[in-house]
Amino acid sequence: MGTKSSLKAFKEAQELIPGGVNSPVRAFSSVGGSPLFIKEAKGAYLIDIDGNNYVDFVQSWGPLLFGHRDEGIESAVLEAVKHGLSFGAPTLAETELAKLVVSMFDSIEKVRFVSSGTEAVMSAIRLARGYTGRDDIVKFVGCYHGHSDSLLVEAGSGAATFGNPSSPGVPADFTKHTLLATYNDIESVKRCFNDSNNIACVIIEPIAGNMGLVPADKEFLHELRKLCDLNGTLLIFDEVMSGFRASVNGAESLVGVKPDIVTLGKVIGGGMPVGAFGASAKIMSQLSPEGPVYQAGTLSGNPIAMAAGYAALSKLKQNSQVISVLGTRAIRLVEGMKKEAAKFSIPMQVDTRGSMFGFFFNDKEVKNFSDAAKSDAVLFAKFHAGMLQEGFYFACSLYETGFISTAITDAMIEDTIAASARVFQAIKK
Ligand SMILES: *Cc1c(COP(=O)(O)O)cnc(C)c1O
Repeated sequence: MGTKSSLKAFKEAQELIPGGVNSPVRAFSSVGGSPLFIKEAKGAYLIDIDGNNYVDFVQSWGPLLFGHRDEGIESAVLEAVKHGLSFGAPTLAETELAKLVVSMFDSIEKVRFVSSGTEAVMSAIRLARGYTGRDDIVKFVGCYHGHSDSLLVEAGSGAATFGNPSSPGVPADFTKHTLLATYNDIESVKRCFNDSNNIACVIIEPIAGNMGLVPADKEFLHELRKLCDLNGTLLIFDEVMSGFRASVNGAESLVGVKPDIVTLGKVIGGGMPVGAFGASAKIMSQLSPEGPVYQAGTLSGNPIAMAAGYAALSKLKQNSQVISVLGTRAIRLVEGMKKEAAKFSIPMQVDTRGSMFGFFFNDKEVKNFSDAAKSDAVLFAKFHAGMLQEGFYFACSLYETGFISTAITDAMIEDTIAASARVFQAIKK
């Protein structure tokens, strides 16, 4: 499998773009490789500029629930393009997508659209601070909530991979309002509430996907809800990744805990840049122009992006069984790989939530970021490179989650498991 053209393209890109990429995890640096440049994609497959085909378990880092170039989404976008790319004025498409989102999330009565997950979370935090009149926030080590200043503290994923969890360029004055707690550890949250009586919100990925896949315990989320209520603090579920991936109706429907604010992204744009945050009408009424909390965006609610999002979400709503179908495939994949690994005495921890799957080369159960960080990174890098050689494209960091799309068939899952067996054997030689 030659990758000459990608190697050359990466060199050229590095001359012009920092690290050759427009988002750090894409650079393959944590697995010591060189990124593939993609020419096109169709269904389950990515095709690089050397003409190699890969079964894609990254799916643009989550958005493509229906695989690449889903017919319905593609034609909705093509149709929308014909009417104009952007108006900066209200369109019916925004109301239609809002209706869908509100119908799918119990805790959302009103929603505002933005252009990325980062923007959604940043705005949700401002809303929580504005609503409560408080400054401090609690976040969990290893949870990623986008790259805005006050959230770039111990932030998992790309940030963890690069070993500088809080970035230079973020003033300490900004992050002094960010209190850190340990995922799945309610005592650590209680300590935050002991340290501050000024906590506007607790933000959490209820199904963490940016330290590998580490779902929160149900009991822990219930306790968290209670603590927030006790302290007049808002609870934010960051479902930018898990929303529409783990369940059609959000993590709240899986765990029975209702957040005050939900942030969404990825799948909600069907592959186009869309983020959103939603809450009760009462909380959302604080937002400008209804209320005093300012938030805006020139391209927010962009008609092409709304068309793609509507096509994706309406398809999901009408075919809500897909989450459990994909869930069955996800379980088969990770259990199958785990069984193969065991034959070579390689311990694996695996988990899934709907179409999300995760695995760690670790002999202990992973409950938080420090557990995840004890996984075997060298083994992961070898596994990643081996699977790529076999034609299977996994996320290039052990702190990422994998995704099954509807384009990935049972046969592809079996092929992936068989390939993993060959890769484990080669690694152990
Ligand atoms: C991806 C992600 C974000 C950031 O979204 P962008 O669209 O990359 O800005 C925020 N929170 C979570 C949980 C995410 O997975």
